[in-house]
Amino acid sequence: MTLLLRAGLLFTGSHEIENGWVLSRDGFIAEVGSGSHPPADDFVDEPNCVAMPGLVNAHDHMYQWATRGYVPDGTLFEWLRALYPVWARIDAETVRVAARAAMARLLISGCTLSTDHHYVFPQGRPGIFEALVDSARELGLRFQPCRGSMSLGESKGGLPPDSVVEDEDAILAHTEEMIGRYHDPKPGAMCRVVVAPCSPFSVTPELMRDSAALARRHGVRLHTHLAETLDEERFCVEKFGRRPVELMEDLGWTGDDVWYAHGIHLNDAEVDRIAEVKTGIAHCPSSNMRLGAGACRVEDLVRAGARVGLGVDGSASNEDANLAMEAHQALLLARVRATSPAALDARGAWRLATRGGADCLGWDDCGSLEPGRCADIACFRVDDLAHAGIEDRVAALALAPPSRAQTVVVNGRVVVRDGRLLTGDEAEIAREIAATSVRLAG
Ligand SMILES: [Zn+2]
Repeated sequence: MTLLLRAGLLFTGSHEIENGWVLSRDGFIAEVGSGSHPPADDFVDEPNCVAMPGLVNAHDHMYQWATRGYVPDGTLFEWLRALYPVWARIDAETVRVAARAAMARLLISGCTLSTDHHYVFPQGRPGIFEALVDSARELGLRFQPCRGSMSLGESKGGLPPDSVVEDEDAILAHTEEMIGRYHDPKPGAMCRVVVAPCSPFSVTPELMRDSAALARRHGVRLHTHLAETLDEERFCVEKFGRRPVELMEDLGWTGDDVWYAHGIHLNDAEVDRIAEVKTGIAHCPSSNMRLGAGACRVEDLVRAGARVGLGVDGSASNEDANLAMEAHQALLLARVRATSPAALDARGAWRLATRGGADCLGWDDCGSLEPGRCADIACFRVDDLAHAGIEDRVAALALAPPSRAQTVVVNGRVVVRDGRLLTGDEAEIAREIAATSVRLAG
C-alpha cells in the first residue's frame, strides 16, 4: 500500500520544502520531494498545513486520565500521597478506558509514537498491561509500554502505602513475560516493551539493579523518574547517602539504553555526565509547572550533547495530553529559566518533540521525514485564526500551539483526518472516561 501526502510546507526535521510531499510504502517513507509526484494508492492534500515528523511522547502515565484534577495545588509528594489510595482501586477496565482517552488526545495532538510508564498493578487485577497494548493497537498508535513497578512501601521507608506495592520476584517474572509476549525489536515495530521501576523513593535499590540486569539480558530499554523535586533529592541523600544521579550510577542505571523522566535538579557535573553516557531526559514542562517541581536545564543538556525529548507526563499532573502544547511550554519555560529568549527557539522545540523523543526511546527509525524512516507524519493548519498571517509557519506553531492536528499518519495509515480521530469515537471515549472517573472517585 502507498500513500502520498502533500503539504503547503514540509518540515522534515532538518529542512523545509515548499509544496513538499512524502510517499510512504508499507509503513515506511519511500521518497520525499516537491513539485510533481509519483502516483499512489491513496492521496492526502493539505495545502494549508505544515507537515512534520509525528510527535514523540517520551513520558506518560495513561491510567491517570481517570484521576485528573485531584490535589490541584499540591507538591509532588502531597499529590502522590493523596492519589496512591485512589490508584490502588484501578483494574484492567479502568486502564483501558483511561488509555483510550489519553491515546485519542495524543493522536489528535499530532503524536504518533508514545511511551507509557505504568507502575500500579493492584493484587488480583489481571490484564492491565494487556489493556494498554490492546488500546494502542485499536487506535493505531505506535507504542512503547513500560512495565513499571513499586516495591518500597511505607513500612520499609518508601513513599507509597504498602497496599500498592508488589513483591519483587513477581514484578520481575511478569516483566519478563510481557517482554516475551509484546516486544518487537524489528524496524517499523508497533510495540516495544521497557523495564521501568517507578522512582528511587518507591522501589528498592535491589529491584533497580535486578531490573537493569533483566532489561540488558533481553536487549530492552530502561526508564524511571529521576531528579524531579528537591523532596526526592533529600530522600535519596537521607536514605542512601547519595544524590539521585549518584545513586543511579551505583545501580548500573546509566548508559544509552536508559532515559529518565524530568532530570530537573542536576548540578553541572551531572549535566555533563548524563550527556557523556548518552542517557536521555524526558522533559515534561506542563507537569513540572503544575506541581511547581522546577525547570529542567534543557538548554544546558542540549548544549552538552544529551538526548532530550518531551513528555506530557500523566494527565493527573497535566490534565491534557497535547504534545504540540508541550513544545510551546518547553520553549517558554526554557526562556524563563534562562531569562533569555535565546535559550530555545521554535525549531529547537520541535526537535525535542520529534527526534529528541525518538532518541530517548531508542526508536532510530522515527522522528524525521526521510526515506527509510517510519511513515509517521503530523499536519497542522496554519490558515486558522490562531496562525493565519504569521510568516514563519514553523515558528507560528510553537508560539501559538495548535489545539488539534489536521491529519495524522502512523505507519503509513491515516488515523486523524480533518482534525477527527478515525480509529475511535471521541464523544464515546469522553462519555466512558467521565463515568469511569466518577466510579473510581467512589
Ligand atoms: Zn511521571
